[in-house]
Amino acid sequence: MIDVPLRLTLDGAALAANWRWFAARSGRAACGAAVKADGYGLGARDVVPRLAAAGCRDFFVTTWAEAAALGRAGDGVSLSILHGVREADLAQALASSARPVLNSPAMVARWKAAAPHRACDVMVDTGMNRLGLTPAEAGSGMLDGLRIATLMSHLACADEPGHPLNDTQRARFAALVAAVPADRYSLANSAGICLGEPYAFDLTRPGLGLYGGVPAPGADGQIVPVVALEAEVLQVRDVAAGEAVGYGATFVAPAAIRAAILNIGYADGYFRALGPGGAAWAGERRCPVIGRVSMDLIAVDVTGGDVSEGDWLSIDLDLPNAVSGTSLSQYELLTGLGHRYQRRWT
Ligand SMILES: *Cc1c(COP(=O)(O)O)cnc(C)c1O
Repeated sequence: MIDVPLRLTLDGAALAANWRWFAARSGRAACGAAVKADGYGLGARDVVPRLAAAGCRDFFVTTWAEAAALGRAGDGVSLSILHGVREADLAQALASSARPVLNSPAMVARWKAAAPHRACDVMVDTGMNRLGLTPAEAGSGMLDGLRIATLMSHLACADEPGHPLNDTQRARFAALVAAVPADRYSLANSAGICLGEPYAFDLTRPGLGLYGGVPAPGADGQIVPVVALEAEVLQVRDVAAGEAVGYGATFVAPAAIRAAILNIGYADGYFRALGPGGAAWAGERRCPVIGRVSMDLIAVDVTGGDVSEGDWLSIDLDLPNAVSGTSLSQYELLTGLGHRYQRRWT
């Protein structure tokens, strides 16, 4: 394998521990896993078998292309396609054991015509106005005759525990449970699970928290980091007082400093917004990012430290901290990591 000056270390035990935490918080409900966007950037083909070994049986991706990329999900494992079934998806859908999540009346009609006896899932929109049938459509009889494995809805504000829309959506969903027959009912994502058991119904669908994101205030200190980044020092240089570092000369050394140039940049998901407040670590020494983040490089202040060319520094990617004060979300950080890392699971 070609050696790369940029590493992503993924902790399989932490991934499993996070899933078990959500499974325990889901009470009597089964706990699934959202593995869309290539397992939130970690690699769905690596994530799914690890979660399946931990006991997860219900997986969610967005499209049939993501399902195909996953390969065979394994025995006793169910896969749902959140974006449903377009006309162009029918051939693959009929050849697959995965289930479409029917989102619109046209999708319902399409599935009834193409596979009247095959199980499907159905999404009902209870207040987010994104994908899904309206509750009125769901109750209109249009679903009669379908074999619905999972009837689901999705919360818009679960990361804000006090938001009134949470209870509104839960109540609307509870009314659907009474009105629309399905094998199982599912409402909660990671943050929704943190809202408590009344949100869990039969099946939960965490994503973010599995991968080390902290979805809600209540999960602080409970979620184990899964992703660790390290970049190699390509060069170390002395910067005299008054000299600038990086594009735009936005950083000017207030005194003589030593800077290490690291092999990571915004093309690796280390976005410009992470520069201010961002840091690398040389052992116990915090080395703040100085100047603008480049496409492939950052500079960090290593003054007084023992850092040389060829050393590896770890990049601080404590997800909630890394995004605080920026307009980025933890989701964007994970899914933006890019493809230039040498990836290693422990
Ligand atoms: C992405 C997604 C999830 C997982 O959400 P997290 O906030 O990452 O836990 C669950 N359900 C649906 C429908 C989704 O689109």
